[in-house]
Amino acid sequence: MGATLDEKLKAKLRILADAAKYDASCASSGAPKRSGGMTGLGSTTGAGICHAYTPDGRCVSLLKILLTNYCLFDCAYCVNRRSSNVRRARFTVDEVVKLTIEFYKRNYIEGLFLSSGIIRSPDHTMEEMMRVAKALRRDHGFAGYIHLKTIPEASPWLIEQAGLWADRLSINLELPSQRSLKRLAPEKDGTTIRTAMGQMRERIAEAREEKRRFSPAGQSTQVIVGADDTTDEAVLQSSAGLYERYDLKRVYYSAFSPIPEPSRVLPVKPPPMQRESRLYQADWLLRHYGFTVAEIAAGGEGGMLDLGIDPKLAWALKNRDRFPVDVNTGERELLLRVPGLGARAVDRIIQARRHRRLRLEDVARLSSGLRRARPFLIAADHRPVRLTDRLDLRRLVTSPVPQQMSLFA
Ligand code: SF4
Repeated sequence: MGATLDEKLKAKLRILADAAKYDASCASSGAPKRSGGMTGLGSTTGAGICHAYTPDGRCVSLLKILLTNYCLFDCAYCVNRRSSNVRRARFTVDEVVKLTIEFYKRNYIEGLFLSSGIIRSPDHTMEEMMRVAKALRRDHGFAGYIHLKTIPEASPWLIEQAGLWADRLSINLELPSQRSLKRLAPEKDGTTIRTAMGQMRERIAEAREEKRRFSPAGQSTQVIVGADDTTDEAVLQSSAGLYERYDLKRVYYSAFSPIPEPSRVLPVKPPPMQRESRLYQADWLLRHYGFTVAEIAAGGEGGMLDLGIDPKLAWALKNRDRFPVDVNTGERELLLRVPGLGARAVDRIIQARRHRRLRLEDVARLSSGLRRARPFLIAADHRPVRLTDRLDLRRLVTSPVPQQMSLFA
C-alpha cells in the first residue's frame, strides 16, 4: 500500500482522517501499531483507523474519514465549519473506494465509517457518499461493515438509496434543543433532522418486515455535550425520546472539545471529561436497567449527574430505603439496581439460586463487583447491619484506586 498510495492521497488521508476524529458515532481510538504496516498510515499515527462495536458486540476496526472537510455550513462547535481556517481536502468517490479496498485487503480494517462536510448541496454530498457505498458493494463485492453519516437535508430518496448499501446510517442531532441549534448551528433545523429520523425508522421497519436489506444495523445519532447550557437531565430526556420515537440503536455523546480557532459563542473550557462517560453510563441504565430519566437525574444535583460516582451508585446512595436486596429472593428488576451487579451477573445469580441458597462467596464467583454490591445485598451468610445508614458509605464503596469505569454495573 505504501508503494501504491501516492503522496497526494496520503496527504488527503491525513487531513480527512484528522477531521473525522471529532465524530463520536464511531467510538474511536488510535489504531494499534501494526508491524509491517504502511508508513504513517494506519500505523503509529493510526491515521483514519478507529474501533467501533457492531450491534452483536464485536469490536471492529474501521477506516474513519470524511469525504471532504469543506463545508457550506458554519456550526460553531465544528472544526470544519466554513469560517474555520483549517487545511481542506476532498476525496473523490473513487479515492475513498480505493482506500477502503486497499486497507480491507490488507486486513487493516473491517469496515468504513464515512462522514462529510456539506459541499455544493446536501443532495450532492449525500449522492457522493451513497456512490461510495454502492461502488464498494456492487463493483467490488465489499463484504465489510459500512456506516454512513447521512445529511438530513438531503432528499429522502438519496438517503433511502444509501440504506440499501450501508449497514448503519446515522443522522446527527448535535444539540438536543431547537434553541441551541439556532444559536450554534443556524443552518440546521431540528424538525428536518427528526423528520429524517422518522422516515428512516419507517424504512428500516418496512425492510425488516419484507425481509430485504436496508441499514440492517439500524440508525444512530450523536449529541454534543457542553457546548451549551443543556443539563444532563435534558440531554437524557432527549435521548429517551429518540430511543422511543425513532428506535435508535445508539445515541453517542461527544463532549465538546476546544477546537483550533473556536467560535466566540462557545464556552472557553470544555466540559469535564467525566461528563461524557457519566452520560454513557446513564444511557446504559436507561436502555438496559429499567431506570427512568427522572430517577437517574435524582442521583445528581440540579439536573447534572454526579461526576464523582457512577449514576447507578449515585441513585442507590440516595435511595437507601430500597436496600438491601436479597440475592436469594429479590426480583430481577431490584437486583439490577444493586451497584456492582451487572445484568449478566444478575442473570447468573438467578440461574444459580434455583439450585442452592447463595452465600457471599457464590456472589463473588458470579460477579466481579461484590465489593461495591456488599452493603446493598443480603446473602445466606450476610446481612448488612444498617450499613446503608452509614454516612461514609459513599467513600466505603468507592475504590481509592482509579479504575476503568464500567458501563455494565
Ligand atoms: S454541517 Fe457538519 S461538517 Fe458542516 S459545519 Fe456543521 S457539523 Fe461541521
